[in-house]
Amino acid sequence: MIEFKNEPFSNFADPANKAKMVEAAALVKNELGQDYPLVINGERIFTEGKITSVNPGNLDQVVGNVGKADRTLAAKALYAALDSFDSWKTFTPAARAGCLFKAAAIMRRRKFELEAWLCYEAGKNWAEADADVAEAIDFMEFYGREALRLGGNQPVTVLPGEDNRLTYIPLGVGVVIAPWNFPLAILAGMTTAAVVAGNTVVLKPASTAPVIAYKFLEIMEEAGIPAGVINYLPGSGSEVGDFLVTHPKTRFISFTGSKDVGLRINELAARHQPGQIWLKRVVAEMGGKDGIVVDADASLEDAADGIVSSAFGFQGQKCSAGSRAIVHKDVYDKVVELVVERVRRLQVGPAEENFPAGPVIDGTAYKKILDYIEIGKQEGNLEAGGLKAEGNGYYIQPTVFSGIAPEARLAQEEIFGPVLAMIKAENFEHALEIFNNTEYGLTGSLYSNNRGHIERARSDMHCGNLYFNRKCTGALVGIHPFGGFNMSGTDSKAGGRDYLLLFSQAKAVSEKL
Ligand code: NAP
Ligand code: MG
Repeated sequence: MIEFKNEPFSNFADPANKAKMVEAAALVKNELGQDYPLVINGERIFTEGKITSVNPGNLDQVVGNVGKADRTLAAKALYAALDSFDSWKTFTPAARAGCLFKAAAIMRRRKFELEAWLCYEAGKNWAEADADVAEAIDFMEFYGREALRLGGNQPVTVLPGEDNRLTYIPLGVGVVIAPWNFPLAILAGMTTAAVVAGNTVVLKPASTAPVIAYKFLEIMEEAGIPAGVINYLPGSGSEVGDFLVTHPKTRFISFTGSKDVGLRINELAARHQPGQIWLKRVVAEMGGKDGIVVDADASLEDAADGIVSSAFGFQGQKCSAGSRAIVHKDVYDKVVELVVERVRRLQVGPAEENFPAGPVIDGTAYKKILDYIEIGKQEGNLEAGGLKAEGNGYYIQPTVFSGIAPEARLAQEEIFGPVLAMIKAENFEHALEIFNNTEYGLTGSLYSNNRGHIERARSDMHCGNLYFNRKCTGALVGIHPFGGFNMSGTDSKAGGRDYLLLFSQAKAVSEKL
């Protein structure tokens, strides 16, 4: 087995890659608007009700119409997963991992095409779409290797006269509930981690990005995943979500999404149901109000670059987005100026045409973000943006507010859009205090050239993924295992060596010799 290596990003400055991307976007454009069924135990089921996936940057363009599950179909999917668990759990780790490696190879071959789907369906520009596909490939390559490492006997202390063995076995049927913001990477990561550990799943994609999830399902089928191991069940979260979460045969729930939905799932899953013979496990990765601290002696140009790419990459719609800049008062005005200069250069336009700032995901998000911008106008000084942007989609100008108080709503609440709150700190201590003063704890950065401050931050900036002198987005599988503290979730550390254990249970067997 070759050692795990991250999939390289495509360089779109290279005319060859640019040409491939343009070609892929044209090809995928011809495939837009088709119908996609649910897939339960391999069976294609077309439903009367549909979920229509629309290009958020071109509201007249339907990306696809997918089936919409009701509770009867949700139950059917759950029992299909339950039936297939009996055989899938007997596959060797190598056989299960083989499916992931093959799927990764297929994705590599179809990379630009998958990226084009992400441009149309999620409003990702080329580099963002490329990172999403690369991460999906990485998850499968990484978890496949993890399954091999954790398959077979694990180390235990030797006792003469006894044969002691510890192995990891799967849990059972999992419900995977995925977000739309990494609609390929996170969905693929959550799903393949669960199945490579020997579980079977019902996969509920986000309703705003279900077509790319169907493409993933097809790739897994092509890679040899048996029918019933992954059941594709698009449907409204509020309609089928509670049903799946509370079902007595559900063994675990792997969720990535908002705090409110995560809390609801955690609460419902904790309730014992008639006929249920286990405590359900919940892996929940939720929101963030991530921040970048800039120290008095930091390299200010670097800090401004990091702030802008963390806050505005994919329109700020990343759980890791640096939506707060917390800046030492000595350099505050300068940093505001450098940030605003850069933000004004971010042109807004269609993702498939590779504008640096694309649309936000849907009408609900659009309205919510514009409402927050109005709140920001009360709470601080508008430095850039502040309005809708032109176009037949959910376009919003990248927006910067200065003079935001640490307790302000803009400094506390996850907006999940292109809105940056700049906060002034009296000194380094104060900056740390502001950084830690939210209910979340996902990512953070410190820009500083003071070794003492860096070491202080290493222990005292309380978040799952902390970075020094670089942006707070762009975690890489294997290198930066990802997950947050407090209301950011269960700190599952996706893309790390602890992750598969969340979908496994250990069995110890001793034989007296
Ligand atoms: P969301 O609205 O919570 O939706 C996530 C998923 O939950 C969707 O599939 C949704 O289905 C489903 N859902 C909704 N109501 C449900 C219910 N009652 N029971 C079960 N499932 C239900 O989140 P989102 O808007 O897709 O994603 C953005 C959020 O995800 C942000 O808060 C972001 O910070 C967070 N996020 C966190 C991480 C991380 O690693 N910590 C990574 C990415 C995103 P429908 O689409 O049908 O409503
Ligand atoms: Mg859409």
